[in-house]
Amino acid sequence: LDANLADRKVVQYVINRFGIHAKHRLGQNFLVRPDIVAAIADAAEITPDVSVMEIGAGIGTLTQALAERGSDVIAFEVDQSLKRVLDSTLEKYKNVTIIYEDVLKADLKGILGDKEWHCAANLPYYITTPILLSLIHSDLPISLFVFMTQKEVADRILADPGTKDYGALTLAVQYYCTAERVLDIPPTAFIPRPQVTSTVLRLRRRSEPAVSVKDSKLLFSLIKMGFAQRRKVFTNAVKFGGIPNEISRKIFEVTGIDGSRRGETFSLEEYAALADAWYDLIH
Ligand code: SAM
Repeated sequence: LDANLADRKVVQYVINRFGIHAKHRLGQNFLVRPDIVAAIADAAEITPDVSVMEIGAGIGTLTQALAERGSDVIAFEVDQSLKRVLDSTLEKYKNVTIIYEDVLKADLKGILGDKEWHCAANLPYYITTPILLSLIHSDLPISLFVFMTQKEVADRILADPGTKDYGALTLAVQYYCTAERVLDIPPTAFIPRPQVTSTVLRLRRRSEPAVSVKDSKLLFSLIKMGFAQRRKVFTNAVKFGGIPNEISRKIFEVTGIDGSRRGETFSLEEYAALADAWYDLIH
């Protein structure tokens, strides 16, 4: 097939020709906007030195745009029944390899090796966040991620302290990566149409975590306590989380941070200061 796989007519043709029934369970919504697909592929910043992994090839729409930009593409697609489709739609791209496997079960370390990768993914919404978190928290050699998510999830990742969207997810992502919004995508850009607006995010892995702490486990457990009880003042939230009063009082004293503020108002730097003070008290 020699056509732009982001073109609505072409997607409709492929769907009819192969008798595809989009599987809701696998989040199969296919993009039908060439401009948007081009913007996503551009956001992946493909250069001759980096390879691209894609998650969720579908009928090959984004795969084609990535392959056209010249780099090697490894795409994961869990739905084996799409093999006969992709064999045809991507036939002419010798730089594409499709792996028919659940990306969460694949041996990514073995497949990616040591060279630098960028990652592009348009996945079912319910698994985007777990996959995203597991990839950024891993030591895989992926330096840049372009992810489509539900707009609400993107807003949470990009949120500022003290806002309603700010939470553990914001900090879990921003600890490892800088994050920026690439574009919002309306439901009309897909066949079939999803219920919600989507957002494409670009995450760039930091060379060092955003804050340096003595023990990142303590940092993340404080963050968890702070947001599990987000309407409580932080002193009570950490008490609820199992830190005795006499310890937390000292943590606030050493850091000069006011424990009567809510955990949802603390910046990552403040959480880091609290975590290090806690570390010093228990070691
Ligand atoms: N990239 C295409 C596009 O933009 O039109 C299709 C995107 S569609 C929203 C998501 C795709 O991810 C589906 O084809 C689905 O089968 C696949 N998928 C779902 N879960 C997956 C997983 N765990 N590993 C790999 N692919 C998965």
